[in-house]
Amino acid sequence: MSTATAIDADAAPWSPAQPVLEVRGLNVDYGAGRDAVRAVNEVTFTLRRGEVLGLAGESGSGKSTLAYAITRLLRAPGVITGGEVVFHQPSASGGPARTVDLLAADARELAGIRWVDLSMVFQSAMHALNPVARIEGQLTDVLKRHRPDMAPAERRARAIELLGMVGITPDRLSSYPHELSGGMRQRVMIAMALALEPSLVIMDEPTTALDVVTQREILDELMRLRERLGFAVIFITHDLSLLLELADTIAIMYAGQLVESAAAADLLAAPRHPYSLGLLNSFPALHGERVKMTGIPGSPPSLRAMPTGCKFHPRCPHAFERCSAEQPALLTPAGSRGKRTVACWLQTGDRVPPEPLGRPEGDRSQDLAVGGH
Ligand code: SF4
Repeated sequence: MSTATAIDADAAPWSPAQPVLEVRGLNVDYGAGRDAVRAVNEVTFTLRRGEVLGLAGESGSGKSTLAYAITRLLRAPGVITGGEVVFHQPSASGGPARTVDLLAADARELAGIRWVDLSMVFQSAMHALNPVARIEGQLTDVLKRHRPDMAPAERRARAIELLGMVGITPDRLSSYPHELSGGMRQRVMIAMALALEPSLVIMDEPTTALDVVTQREILDELMRLRERLGFAVIFITHDLSLLLELADTIAIMYAGQLVESAAAADLLAAPRHPYSLGLLNSFPALHGERVKMTGIPGSPPSLRAMPTGCKFHPRCPHAFERCSAEQPALLTPAGSRGKRTVACWLQTGDRVPPEPLGRPEGDRSQDLAVGGH
């Protein structure tokens, strides 16, 4: 982990290609000493302005731990034991961004970044509203704290605008949370997260507790807002089918590690890791021929009893001798286009991967038809 908070001016002002967040070799343990178990292992990725990164994997794969570590909201016994999280903080004056090592930032600096430049919406966020305060007060409190220059009338106008952005009428400003449906409360939380126009929003299963219709409405609104405001999103879910529609890039996590990362369309057309393929085969296509869903046999490993070599080998139908002995590194397979990386011995050139793991990139003829939710 870096030991100093780096605050450097970037050379150029914002552009869509500029990174918002760079996570390098991030490690998170639960516990300390001999009792420590590794929950996030050497995770590395870069997120660019306006990009939606979908983080998928089964429960316990480390997705939420990663989000809490990035935002420095991890609670004991969770400990960040290595790596860097570099946030490119936009300048309020429109000048060059500055880079901040979030793992080394002190409480004051973090308080100046959270909500303003980096906000979070967690799965149970709708329960985070104060039950005895009206919606108006809760929305304007965020503005009062971070924008003390705003007059009360401006704050109220902004609160109305924010509710409008998530499809809620101004008369709801005077409501208490219990007077709103679950979907509306989650929309209020999203409005609150966007109140200060952050450049990055981290969403951890933000719509899981909602019915599919409400989920669809909220996600459509979110994507419209992303188009308009240009913020980047890390969207965490166990539902890969959702990400195929929503995300620009999908990163698959297994047992605390990233095992595959690719553009969403490339992952759908030609998964390279057997675990990605298993996830893709775990939900039904709404169009095309009926196919038998195969799922993934077995369960994710316990953090206390991690398999040797590739962590997926006890469940992998393609495992061979090397898989249980050596852990494959996350590499770009030969012939890949875009920014795909995979951690699998089938993709290192020593073996010919079986179909469909060896399908040529760009071949969309056998795409799964994802009809959405
Ligand atoms: Fe399967 Fe081996 Fe690839 Fe792991 S390295 S996913 S066990 S083929």
